[in-house]
Amino acid sequence: MTFNSIPGQEKIKQELLSMTNNERLPHALLLTGPKGNGKLALALALTSYIQCSSKNGIDKCGICPACKKTNKIIHPDINFIVPNIASEQKCLSIQELMSEWRKLLIANPFIELDDWIEKLTSESKQANINKESIISVIDYFNLSLFEGNKKIMIIWNAELMAAEANRLLKLIEEPPQDALIILIAEDTSKIIKTILSRCQIFRIPPFSDGDLEKWISEKMPEEKKLVRQMISISEGDISKLIKLMNVEQTDFFELLMKWLNVSYQGLSENIFQFSEEFHRLTKETQKQFLLYTLRFMEQVIKSYYLDTDKIRLNQRELNSMEKLKNMLSIDNLIFLCEEINKNIYNIERNAFSKLMIFESSLKLNNVLRK
Ligand SMILES: [Zn+2]
Repeated sequence: MTFNSIPGQEKIKQELLSMTNNERLPHALLLTGPKGNGKLALALALTSYIQCSSKNGIDKCGICPACKKTNKIIHPDINFIVPNIASEQKCLSIQELMSEWRKLLIANPFIELDDWIEKLTSESKQANINKESIISVIDYFNLSLFEGNKKIMIIWNAELMAAEANRLLKLIEEPPQDALIILIAEDTSKIIKTILSRCQIFRIPPFSDGDLEKWISEKMPEEKKLVRQMISISEGDISKLIKLMNVEQTDFFELLMKWLNVSYQGLSENIFQFSEEFHRLTKETQKQFLLYTLRFMEQVIKSYYLDTDKIRLNQRELNSMEKLKNMLSIDNLIFLCEEINKNIYNIERNAFSKLMIFESSLKLNNVLRK
């Protein structure tokens, strides 16, 4: 991971680089801010930069022996603590956990907790950083430096350490020479105060639309129209944007208009046809379409209370919003949001999507015709 491959976030990149270049980097850092702001990727870029033996002042070289290892996430002086399955019977060994983690991290340095838990287990949504993992941090720092410039530990989703974090206090208070501990957390209120007070905290904002647009248009130069739509749905969250890029290139706005139309007309033959079309999409595309619809409806609800310039919809969406407001009361819009939320929940649990969307269309017909 290089700083250059992360869109925007220039201020924080400069701060981290300047501290590293001037050897003013503290022993403990906490990178925080909302989901999808690139905090893990920034930690990866920083730690790779620190270990690189021919860095140029603004990024790692990418080709020295240290960089070859950081590229593959196998540098012996960069270690990770990541959440495990909370159940003691089902949790993985640290080796299993790390082998899975390396694979996922190489594929997507913007990975978020939900994706990680989904990979670990399909059953429970509970994850934590367990005692065994915390003890391994202490053991790790008892070993001397192997080959890097610093001995580094990245604790991802540090808020999931809960009370076990107390075990780290001494380490953070009196760190060994050349140690660097980077905590990454979205919700710092769940981290004990004694740890927080010993970290230098970096609050990282969401990505700006402009930064994401530049980044994505380099990856998908031919998809101008959909790029805007995807960025607007992402709301500064790069992990959301990556998911949207990976689903089929469906114009969600057009699909939503079609859905509203067939539901309004209420002809079962057309509804059936639409349900088949929906069913043919991949599960992830179905989910992203419903999330898009949910966000659209929420913006319509907001438009009753807020000025138009505060509504995050583009021009063609705004045009249909006015039509929709003539047909649906706020109560009906809220009912619809609940219905879509239920559908998202069911899709995640592998519901039969054809039947699900057919039933929802009939309910939609009911509210549109009221
Ligand atoms: Zn290098």
